[in-house]
Amino acid sequence: MLIIGSHVSFNKNNQLLGSLEESLKYKANTFMFYTGAPQNTKRYEIDQNITKQAILKMQEKNININNIIVHAPYIINLANNKESDKYDFSIRFLKDEIKRCEELKIKYLVLHPGSHVGLGIDVGIENIIFALNMVLEYDQNVTILLETMSGKGTEVGSNFQEIKKIIDGISKKELIGVCIDTCHLNDSGYDLNNFDTILKEFDQVIGLSYLKCVHVNDSKNIMGARKDRHENIGYGTIGFNNLLKVLYHDKLDNIPKILETPYINEKAPYKEEIEMISKKVFNPNLKDL
Ligand code: FE
Ligand code: FE
Ligand code: ZN
Repeated sequence: MLIIGSHVSFNKNNQLLGSLEESLKYKANTFMFYTGAPQNTKRYEIDQNITKQAILKMQEKNININNIIVHAPYIINLANNKESDKYDFSIRFLKDEIKRCEELKIKYLVLHPGSHVGLGIDVGIENIIFALNMVLEYDQNVTILLETMSGKGTEVGSNFQEIKKIIDGISKKELIGVCIDTCHLNDSGYDLNNFDTILKEFDQVIGLSYLKCVHVNDSKNIMGARKDRHENIGYGTIGFNNLLKVLYHDKLDNIPKILETPYINEKAPYKEEIEMISKKVFNPNLKDL
């Protein structure tokens, strides 16, 4: 079954229930949210009453909470330990974010591995491993999904080999998974015209059982540009048919697919994008939204 949704908002007053209601408007059967603004670490207390109401409504609407994703804020950077206070802050914030996911009953937390900011890939990977081993605990229910990156700046994790090195260093591997992002794959140099080849490489290097989430985005840039600028489905360099192959790939059946495509004229495009994905027919008027 196609599990499809988008990035949705999460606000102080309506929390998980508000996110769920937004995603229902898009005719989605899953969603992803940040527990606050993606760029900062200001966060609110989780209201257990709202969480309960949201879970009841999910049951009513046949939405499996195990498919819902939280995305950690960008400013967590586990790869750079040049300034120990910032590194420690990232570790502590991630730990709190895991607790928030536990309170919200959310199973998957997507994390950008981080940027090494001049320390080099190998030191960056060591720092990420150290931090994740600090954070992961045996009794937690939350799995951290490392996202494969575009390779802009000094990002770690722009190829499967780097992700594999991180996983190799983690003691509690059952609490680690991977999220691929089609825009990031394209921008880091993977050819989405041959998605089967990409999946085969993923399986050989990391193992397909680690793949728990797919971010489906088109890209504004050519393959290998190392830019990370998302485009609406079918409007970028990857193209509608290549993205459909990812969305409907039989090896990715039942893995949540999340759209993080840009707003059009300040409006969320997700209802229309999910509609064209469900119908498998490109909508040439999407940008007139
Ligand atoms: Fe991301
Ligand atoms: Fe992403
Ligand atoms: Zn991105």
